[in-house]
Amino acid sequence: MDIVGIYEVFPTNDHCITHLEKVRWGDKPKCPYCKSPKVTPRPKEKRHHCNNCNTSFSVTVRTIFHHTHLPLQKWFLAITLVLNAKKGIAARQLGRDLHVNKDTAWRMAMKIRDAMMEREQRIILQGLVEMDETYVGGKPRKGTGPHKRGRGTKKIPVVGMVERDKGKGKIKVEVIKNRKLDGKRLKALVRKNVDIKNSTLFTDEYKGYLGIKTMMPHKVINHSEWYVDGDVHTNTIESFWALLKRGIIGQYHKVSLSYLAKYIDEFSYRWNNRKTDSDDFFFSTLQRAVRGI
Ligand SMILES: [Zn+2]
Repeated sequence: MDIVGIYEVFPTNDHCITHLEKVRWGDKPKCPYCKSPKVTPRPKEKRHHCNNCNTSFSVTVRTIFHHTHLPLQKWFLAITLVLNAKKGIAARQLGRDLHVNKDTAWRMAMKIRDAMMEREQRIILQGLVEMDETYVGGKPRKGTGPHKRGRGTKKIPVVGMVERDKGKGKIKVEVIKNRKLDGKRLKALVRKNVDIKNSTLFTDEYKGYLGIKTMMPHKVINHSEWYVDGDVHTNTIESFWALLKRGIIGQYHKVSLSYLAKYIDEFSYRWNNRKTDSDDFFFSTLQRAVRGI
């Protein structure tokens, strides 16, 4: 879906509402407060009245669009712009595109990210799986000497696991919020996210990965060698890190810990849907947006 598509399929706010009602309820609207099906439509106002709890409601109640004062068309446009922005889109740019101010655009983008959360999707990775850690955000504290990088700094560890599957492979990325990343944690992440009986894991030579070979086939890249040893590499996860870091540095500038997981979900959601047809991608995201949060 692109901007022209949005205007063609949803020429008015009413078209947007009708679509959301269909996605959320089919032909049987239900009260979002008490779940009663005893509701009377008020088509003129595009609302419904619940005969059980005597409340009136619209389709946006308890969705990412709840309490919005903006036309839904702008929201649909915003979703399209976020989904199509491979490297992410800055709030300032989104604001210019939608003719809303930067703060409004920022809040919209955060809401849209709620619809992109991966945590309810149970993705289990299989086959050739690359695993790697990177460190994001949190400038080194003053007085801690030269700028350190990577392990041993105050930056936030982020662990990624990705299937190496010619463009279709899925990714799972976890933010280590307490900043404690050790062998035990890495093993737990593998157990949680990888089908260890049917996979081979590729990592670098970081000692935290030492115990993995007792669980499953594990191949280690020797970065001190200048050549790529056959299929032993972590190029796939490294290209995701490159995309993420360009996005975070280029678009979002500073990312606080509490938002980092949301930004990362945005990037992995796009990655996991990179082969999804663009219209399907839009409509399935819209479905997540109204499923009620
Ligand atoms: Zn009710």
